[in-house]
Amino acid sequence: VSEEIPFVAGPLVDHHCHGVVLRDLDRASYESLMNEGAGAGRWTGTPFDSMLGLAIRRHCAPLLGLEPHADPEDYLVRRAELGHEEVGRRMLGAARLDVLLVDTGFVPEPLSSPADLAELAGDRVRVHEVLRLETVAERLLAAGASPAGLIDAVGRRLVVSGAVGAKSIAAYRSGLELPGERPRDADVARAVASLRPRDDGTFRVADPIVQAALAWTAIESGMPLQLHVGYGDSDVDLIRCDPLLLTAFLRATAPYGVPVLLLHNYPFHRHAAYLAQVFDHVFMDLGLAVHNTGPMARTLVAETLELAPFGKLLYSSDAFGLPELYLLGSLLFRRALSDVLIDLVSTDEMSADDAVRIGSLVLRDNAVRAYGLAVR
Ligand SMILES: [Zn+2]
Repeated sequence: VSEEIPFVAGPLVDHHCHGVVLRDLDRASYESLMNEGAGAGRWTGTPFDSMLGLAIRRHCAPLLGLEPHADPEDYLVRRAELGHEEVGRRMLGAARLDVLLVDTGFVPEPLSSPADLAELAGDRVRVHEVLRLETVAERLLAAGASPAGLIDAVGRRLVVSGAVGAKSIAAYRSGLELPGERPRDADVARAVASLRPRDDGTFRVADPIVQAALAWTAIESGMPLQLHVGYGDSDVDLIRCDPLLLTAFLRATAPYGVPVLLLHNYPFHRHAAYLAQVFDHVFMDLGLAVHNTGPMARTLVAETLELAPFGKLLYSSDAFGLPELYLLGSLLFRRALSDVLIDLVSTDEMSADDAVRIGSLVLRDNAVRAYGLAVR
């Protein structure tokens, strides 16, 4: 997808993505996976009537052998004829990915594993795992971990897992106002002890003290910490997901020098860019927002680069469920970034050499540095 796009032809690291579904999808199921909404609605109509819908019809239809802008119904019929495995191979193959960091902690139905994704995406792709802190804690609790030992057990699990990062979904559960100091052990043990299993024996960690302790544990383990920020499904109270709520936590964790990576950020991407400027250990991306804003993603990239240091912006797709989202994330982000760089070069605000260098920082080098990935 990238040969013809100036300044962004190099290797791509997708530092936050998920598996794809392992089944053929009818129209209702497909539409429910397109964006963070609930699918088609009485008043919403079809999610195809959106920037993402336009992008699927324009850029994904030709990969299925259809004309650009194919009708949604024709697209879905053709998709069903090919089957989900073939569609996955075509979309991920065309996305021109090099490294994937896969969040394996959200599996509402069977999804492709990191190894499956690598197979779909082609030989040269390497995959790494990112552990979701709450999921690790919930599994340890279900397995009988003691309340007093839970956080240490999570820390040990992070260290031995081989994962390259940890992820917190505090935004979804208790909000982003994480404290500026590690919660006291006695308070954490009390909060953990008050968690009760569901009828089936599983746990849901949604306590602010426990979630804060988990985030602090990642920092103290030296594990790069991803935080969900901003845009998400209707479980998120978006008003509690402004990254500026993280200020005390970021100020307190700065001395550790462990990267904190703010995911998605929309519509607070300018707030995130500010934090990336003033805190040396803060990085950010525009995952999820890029494919949802489709052809308008260029504005997001331009607004982010108003303040974000060039060494702090990373690429992620936040693809989940539909392989189309891997392709669109890659294609639309490369184009958006390229458009912004072309503008700066054409007005002589930036040299072409700098544009190539900055393109490579954002697409790959920043992620390689933040996660300590081996370079090939
Ligand atoms: Zn995600």
